[in-house]
Amino acid sequence: MFIPNRIIFEKDSLTYDMSKRILERFKDRNNIEIIYLSSNRYIQHIPGDDLYTMYREGKKTLIVGIKKGMKFQTCKPSAHYQLPLISGCMGQCEYCYLNTMLGDRPFIKVNANTDDILEQSRRYINERLPDITIFEGAATSDPVPVEPYTNSLEKAILFFGDNKYSRFRFVTKYTDVDTLLNLDHNGHTEIRFSLNTPTIIEQYEHSTSALKKRIEASIKVSKAGYPTGYLIAPVFIYDKWKEEYRDLLSEINNILPKNLKYPITFEVISHRYTTIAKNRIMQIFPESTLEMREEDRKFKFGQFGYGKYLYPPESLNEIKQFFKKEIEEIFEHKDIKYII
Ligand code: SF4
Repeated sequence: MFIPNRIIFEKDSLTYDMSKRILERFKDRNNIEIIYLSSNRYIQHIPGDDLYTMYREGKKTLIVGIKKGMKFQTCKPSAHYQLPLISGCMGQCEYCYLNTMLGDRPFIKVNANTDDILEQSRRYINERLPDITIFEGAATSDPVPVEPYTNSLEKAILFFGDNKYSRFRFVTKYTDVDTLLNLDHNGHTEIRFSLNTPTIIEQYEHSTSALKKRIEASIKVSKAGYPTGYLIAPVFIYDKWKEEYRDLLSEINNILPKNLKYPITFEVISHRYTTIAKNRIMQIFPESTLEMREEDRKFKFGQFGYGKYLYPPESLNEIKQFFKKEIEEIFEHKDIKYII
């Protein structure tokens, strides 16, 4: 669970139940600063004069606000829309794709008006009838470590569970799923767990849940009947990478129940980076050992006009062949969504 150093309540947010719940839970803790805003200018309350400090202070800040504009971002190709319940994440993964998206102080913001957001999603669903509309709950966040006090996922799962023309999905590196296990989800919510090898987690995924705990949480949700999947990302090539990724897949399979209703899904993404991301990473993690040498990579223009450095084609091919073969051999009831 995310325990912030400071909580900032936006103007008018305390009229919502979620905000009251959060205040009640944390108000008597001496080491948590509570700030009530009379305007919505919160940046001055997050300390730091340099990117290194601002990043770390931002990651310790929880903002409780209200989602105002109700136009949802699209979320192709995995879903139709992003569901804007939460933005930001308590994790400090060095390679995180959010490092260049959330500003210099990457705070965690929870929107207290969940009901309004879900009502807006109903409008989007109705516009697309009779087609099914898919919402992604983790496009710019990891919503799980704040779930114990937001209950946002719970509300969303119940809402989409009750609507046969919708589906919901989110991905996490955390384990606060107990309150989700007994909900009437109707198989409409897919929960994916982002995993990596112990070597990669230890070096690069700071402030995330331990691998074993993530796997245990995934077993719990699969037993609770949720469609369950694994996002293996980012895949790195290093000494013994094949051995360690194979061990990871076997470890999952060894404890996964065998009679699941839905196939276990796999999404595998090899490591890639942009120049902007590399520069940012070197500012906030100056000691980083992330391998980002342009001469070892292949530059490729992406769909949004900027380029990324990927592993060269022969390495990418090796990654694809390796994961395809291993997943096919190790798992019985599975669905490989993509390996890129
Ligand atoms: Fe980014 Fe996910 Fe790590 Fe959070 S847990 S910092 S969203 S990679």
